[in-house]
Amino acid sequence: MSGEIQPVRGMNDVLPAEIGAWQHFEAVTRALLTAYGYEEIRVPLLERTELFKRAIGEHTDVVGKEMYTFTDRGGDSLTLRPEATAGIVRALISNRMLRGARHKLWCSGPMFRHEAPQAGRYRQFWQVDVEAVGCPGPDVDAELIALSARLWQRLGIGGLTLEINSLGTPESRRAYRARLIEYFERHESRLDADSRRRLAGNPLRILDSKNPDMQELIAGAPLLTEHLDAESREHFEALGRMLDAVGVLYKINPRLVRGLDYYNRTVFEWVTTSTGAQNAVCSGGRYDGLIAQLGGEATPAVGFAMGVERLVALLTAAGGTPAAAVPDVYVVVSGERAAAEALAIVERLRSEAPRLRFELNAGGGNFKAQFRRADKSGAALALIIGDDELARGVVAMKPLRVESGQSECPIGALAAGVEAALAGLGSG
Ligand code: ATP
Ligand code: MG
Repeated sequence: MSGEIQPVRGMNDVLPAEIGAWQHFEAVTRALLTAYGYEEIRVPLLERTELFKRAIGEHTDVVGKEMYTFTDRGGDSLTLRPEATAGIVRALISNRMLRGARHKLWCSGPMFRHEAPQAGRYRQFWQVDVEAVGCPGPDVDAELIALSARLWQRLGIGGLTLEINSLGTPESRRAYRARLIEYFERHESRLDADSRRRLAGNPLRILDSKNPDMQELIAGAPLLTEHLDAESREHFEALGRMLDAVGVLYKINPRLVRGLDYYNRTVFEWVTTSTGAQNAVCSGGRYDGLIAQLGGEATPAVGFAMGVERLVALLTAAGGTPAAAVPDVYVVVSGERAAAEALAIVERLRSEAPRLRFELNAGGGNFKAQFRRADKSGAALALIIGDDELARGVVAMKPLRVESGQSECPIGALAAGVEAALAGLGSG
């Protein structure tokens, strides 16, 4: 067999032309999370399938039809992680890190879901995941949301709307679930196939349907907010007051349910109003029951995950991407002795002027070709290491962006000479 090997559908390469936006997003995010006291944790891409089934829930879309599951050579059923929370909770339990302790954690990396690929929806996509473990809230819920709001501000991403809701306790949700089933069963003929399938297993998910024909029916459904227990109501109202106090605007969306089963009380989602079908850029909520459900000691927790591709797209559209980095100095090499010595000279420069970026000509080429590359590189200054110059113990320098003649600098004082020349050109 020969021919081109195709990429896996829904799995993207992030190319050098896009990487500036990614790195900017990552650097701003990391700095902000650190400032809020969050520590990075890295967990495996593969976990036992059982973990996700138990954490996310058998009746969710993710577990029901989106997981990449396979049997490994030892006969174990493993799954490529579709989200990070389950793995992080597993890590806290496996490493005996609970016992009443508090943890503020973040994790960044690719997730895998077998969905229908389209703009903003991929089969491998990146999330930055943020989790606060050990606090019942609502203060932590509010701080997490404030953190996310500050992140959009630092990234220069506007036009995001915050929606919040409370899912109450498992008990209040059970009561609500019964009322919901009753309502949708009464209108069963108006349900689409997807919703009919959800009715038995996970009726709350019907509220999440994106089918326009279902919206009228959904609008008439009973509201979970009306079934909240007193404590959850108080928790939700306190969250609202704290968000008011820090000036984070929100919309209460009583139909906001999340795609994973483990949430209780606070759930929230940041959605973009800019056009495009995939509007959720950050979603999360409280999961007080999950840790015990996975065999750890009962510990409340709250967290969220951001969709990095969707945020990078918004960042790029807003023009918030830094210009691609260009070298300060392009090194042109001419002659046999120069070719043999150039690398050592440039390596010494890299030691002595570690902040500067040097691009040493690669792949040979005559003088003219090398200068064409030097011009294209965007560097402010060219160094010319040539046999004639080396015989005299000097290296030639030539500004590339302004009309100006060549000068020479003794090899022994080259780093200082380059720095002075760049300073004179207003760069470096
Ligand atoms: P959606 O409603 O868009 O399917 P979700 O509710 O499944 O999102 P979560 O599981 O909460 O999303 O994941 C958190 C974030 O990850 C989402 O808000 C979104 O930005 C991003 N995300 C989820 N699935 C994908 C995907 N297939 N491709 C790209 N980003 C995704
Ligand atoms: Mg989804």
